[in-house]
Amino acid sequence: MADKKDYYEVLGVQKGCSDDELKKAYRAMVKKYHPDLHPDDKDAEAKMKEVNEAYDVLSDKDKRAKYDQFGFAGVDPSYAGGAGGYSGGGFSGNFSGFGDIGDIFDSFFGGGMGGFGGSRANPNAPRKGQDIRTQVQVSFLEACKGTGVDIRVNRLEKCPQCGGSGAKSGTSPETCPDCRGSGQVRVSQRTPLGVFQTTKTCDRCGGSGRIIRDPCPACSGQGRVRKVLQKNVSIPQGIDDGQSLRITGEGDCGVNGGPNGDLIIRVSVKQDDVFEREGFDIYTEIPISYMQAALGDELMIPTIDGKVKYRIPAGTQNGDSFVLRGQGVPRLYRSGRGDHHVSVRVEVPRNLTKKQADLLKAFDDSLDDRNDAGRKSFFDRFK
Ligand SMILES: [Zn+2]
Ligand SMILES: [Zn+2]
Repeated sequence: MADKKDYYEVLGVQKGCSDDELKKAYRAMVKKYHPDLHPDDKDAEAKMKEVNEAYDVLSDKDKRAKYDQFGFAGVDPSYAGGAGGYSGGGFSGNFSGFGDIGDIFDSFFGGGMGGFGGSRANPNAPRKGQDIRTQVQVSFLEACKGTGVDIRVNRLEKCPQCGGSGAKSGTSPETCPDCRGSGQVRVSQRTPLGVFQTTKTCDRCGGSGRIIRDPCPACSGQGRVRKVLQKNVSIPQGIDDGQSLRITGEGDCGVNGGPNGDLIIRVSVKQDDVFEREGFDIYTEIPISYMQAALGDELMIPTIDGKVKYRIPAGTQNGDSFVLRGQGVPRLYRSGRGDHHVSVRVEVPRNLTKKQADLLKAFDDSLDDRNDAGRKSFFDRFK
């Protein structure tokens, strides 16, 4: 705001200029800087904003007088904000007088002058129903194998009593006499730039073009009613925590014949004590005893298909891992599976009795270089 330019300077007119001069200058500026002529040009957009603000003040007798006397402080600062956007709904009237730039003004006045209450989105256009979101929780195994879950949601459905028309059974909606069903009525509007023929939403029917004399008691004339949907949804195998399923057309009923919204189900997967997942691979840590590690053993490894035998060799070290290929999670909507990675954790015995400790010491004394080569070579380096 600090470097705001003088309004007269912005429009390139002299202080004390006539209304006609002002209008002329303004039109020239619009022609020059209108965003429609400079798509994606930030400078033009900023310039147009300045021009719009300046004109809004100078074209108003009171504001102009205050501005002349007090400068920017004299005009309501919030006013500048109100003159900001150009992207409002199109203004659909003929701009008598300067037809050559009529199109520019069409889009310009929609937002620039705060709107004339002109055409909004057509209320009769088909609209898609709202999407409905819900959440389900499944176990780790259910996510791997796929499952069915029961869901219960509230949704808007087409009223069964009136078939969606909103009119009491035996009657039907009538065409609005004021707008003859178009939902829009023509009005004349006086503005600083002349008289506009414009259209606005029909007050009588609210833009729907129809009047319901006897509303359907089941839906109060809305044509849609809230119902509970109970449904068993199948959760595909391989789904991961946080992923969503979209069931097309199972959301709220559409309006004016529009399509239904969708039902979106977010799946959360409970953590598992044994299995951890990354992508389609599974990770498991298996505790083994000191003896199993030293002598080797046949382990029973839990997988998502049940227990699987796996022989670890003698001399297995803490943290050693192996891979069960193709035993991981089935790939979502594809064939094949990830791998199951297993790592072993050697549990060092605790709380030894005197006798156990003596046995262990005797055992340790019996070890030679062949038994723990790694430890020996490590400490040899510090001699
Ligand atoms: Zn109804
Ligand atoms: Zn109407």
